[in-house]
Amino acid sequence: MLNHRFLELSPSKKTVDYVERLGHFTCLILLLSSWGFSSHRCIHDAAIQTLPDPLYTFFKSHRSWIVAHAVDADLRKHGVIGEAEKHFIDLDNYGFELDSLVHLFPRNQIEANSRYGDSLVFANGIGPWSAMTTYYRLVESFSTKNEQLILRNAVDLGHYVADLHVPLHTTSNYNGAETGQRGIHSLWETQLPEQFIGTYQLTPGIDSKLSAAVYIEDHRNTIWNATFTSHLAVDSVLYFEALISLEMGIHATHAYVERGRTQQRMRSQEFATQYHTALDGQVERRMQQSISTIGNLWYSAWIDAGQPSLQSKTVSGRSWLEKIKQWIVQ
Ligand SMILES: [Zn+2]
Repeated sequence: MLNHRFLELSPSKKTVDYVERLGHFTCLILLLSSWGFSSHRCIHDAAIQTLPDPLYTFFKSHRSWIVAHAVDADLRKHGVIGEAEKHFIDLDNYGFELDSLVHLFPRNQIEANSRYGDSLVFANGIGPWSAMTTYYRLVESFSTKNEQLILRNAVDLGHYVADLHVPLHTTSNYNGAETGQRGIHSLWETQLPEQFIGTYQLTPGIDSKLSAAVYIEDHRNTIWNATFTSHLAVDSVLYFEALISLEMGIHATHAYVERGRTQQRMRSQEFATQYHTALDGQVERRMQQSISTIGNLWYSAWIDAGQPSLQSKTVSGRSWLEKIKQWIVQ
């Protein structure tokens, strides 16, 4: 189908179209060039694809910027006081049983602060509340049609929401230190996507599990449901890693794995493969759910702002992908 389309195009248009098509494979390109942050960028990129027009046209025209800045929130963690706590919530530190957590945990931060104290709530992470605050900021940005703020708040909301879809962002045992499973965070969040993203279904379509974004009236509940679902998956994330470690033996679990131009000691590819199989698509499902939730929230914020008309123009400063496109065309 795509080859057929190419035959119908003039040479210069063929090239432009090909580079645009390359954009749909940003996940693959980023995995080759930007280790570690690639999942966030893939999720933001795919979330754009879920948006209906005219919001899709606006976001697509800023696609390069959105994908490039999907990880800004992580970069701020080391320089901005109070940023790091926005990326997680250690729900297990509140002492609820799993089956009562969903019913009893206070969704409202004021209520949580009065029950547990500001400092404890802050120390345990404020991920869901940060996502909600950023949602309100995005609505306000849409209302005032402030393009820079729309983009800034959209990428930050996407980042915080994506983080909350990672089970290990909802537990104090976020890197396995409490259970002798150090490194499990990057194994689940980075190594598995890097090794298996080619098999993940991350774009909306007829046969896809991802559908077009829909309006969500209760965005607060959506964010909390995503967080609780992640937390309920913590057990399986830890259990299967421990089980495979036991089966493989201490000497086979780790290896020096090539990453770009360097070699890093991490879980071996064989270990990652067995873990991926045992999790039975869990990472893919959480990425898919992230994409759907982000698309729904971006769309809902725009609806809540009164569906303002937005100009689809290019932000100042070209991205690397745009520069490559321009270079090839020339
Ligand atoms: Zn983060």
